[in-house]
Amino acid sequence: MKNKQKIIDEVNKCSRCALCFSVCPLYQATKDETKSAKGFFNIIYGILTGKIRLKKNIDLICLNCNKCKTFCPSDINFNKVLPLFKYNYKLSNFNPFIFKIKLYVFSFIIKLYKIFNLKKYFKNSLFAQLSVNDIKIDKSIKYISKNKKIIFFEGCFNRFINSDSKNAILNLLSKNGYEVIIPNLGCCNINSYFEGDFNYFKKSWEKKLKKISKDVDYILFDCDTCFQSFNLYINEFENKCNLKCLTFIQFIEKYNLEFCQNKNYENIVYHKPCKANENNYNILKSKVENLKYVDNFEKCCGFGSLYGIIRGRTSKQISENKFKDVEINSINTIITSCNLCRIGLFQGLIVKKKNTNNENIKVINVSEIF
Ligand code: SF4
Ligand code: SF4
Repeated sequence: MKNKQKIIDEVNKCSRCALCFSVCPLYQATKDETKSAKGFFNIIYGILTGKIRLKKNIDLICLNCNKCKTFCPSDINFNKVLPLFKYNYKLSNFNPFIFKIKLYVFSFIIKLYKIFNLKKYFKNSLFAQLSVNDIKIDKSIKYISKNKKIIFFEGCFNRFINSDSKNAILNLLSKNGYEVIIPNLGCCNINSYFEGDFNYFKKSWEKKLKKISKDVDYILFDCDTCFQSFNLYINEFENKCNLKCLTFIQFIEKYNLEFCQNKNYENIVYHKPCKANENNYNILKSKVENLKYVDNFEKCCGFGSLYGIIRGRTSKQISENKFKDVEINSINTIITSCNLCRIGLFQGLIVKKKNTNNENIKVINVSEIF
């Protein structure tokens, strides 16, 4: 088996100390040892040594949040081992066709909410929250060329669910004189990578990059998960690519942009996605006047790498756990830099809103406050 030694070496690093239990959102929601890095390593080790019989339906699905890596004294890299193991044993549960159908159904329900204004009847449903659409393209903004051409990677969320972030970025960059192009690049397909379907993942990025002309200055991402997917492709499958890419937060740090207006967001808290750059909070702190710190707000949103679509019930539990012991009564806006986190945060807030007086709390992408 290709890569067997690499996997064994990594699995052997795990001392089975169980320290990862205290940070693994999956273990915390299920209290099931087999749903933690330690448990997954035991299963992988058992299969590699022939002690456990390999079954196609073996449950090796997690949020790929990498919280276990940051906490593990043996410095395991779980997010590398699991996809590699699945790839070698052809264990992928990823089916691009089924995934597209689920996405279209999801997007169709959201369209119904918008068209028939159903959100007033189902105020607290996830679909009602996701269908909110306020930011329009500002046609009065005059484009002044700065000779910078930017490709915006819109991903599934902007295309199928809610385009507020895309519209905010278009307004902001046009106001600052950038030419923004939005080709149809489809989904970032990060779940195919984590499910070990490397061939599909690689082909899908090859196709995307063919649609991008080489004279662009940057590819801009408003979602840390899509950004991570691009970087995984570049680092693991294609090291000759010269395209530069930035997240929205890195972009506003690099260029001194003139912001659209004060959009009156007060008492803002940042949810840092597990795929985000460590420096994001400091950058935001220097740009956002009303950014507050909330104790215990670092927990997982429960939707990582589309876990919410694959394991809905556990994902909901993890999302609700995030808000259980946090005091957010004075907060009215949660910003995040991952569009999947947006879904997880809405999901967790439904119960929290019912139990508090904070009915109007919003979850938006970071880009929407500028
Ligand atoms: S913390 Fe690291 S070494 Fe300890 S059980 Fe978890 S993965 Fe293994
Ligand atoms: S990546 Fe996250 S969900 Fe998966 S085992 Fe590690 S801590 Fe748990």
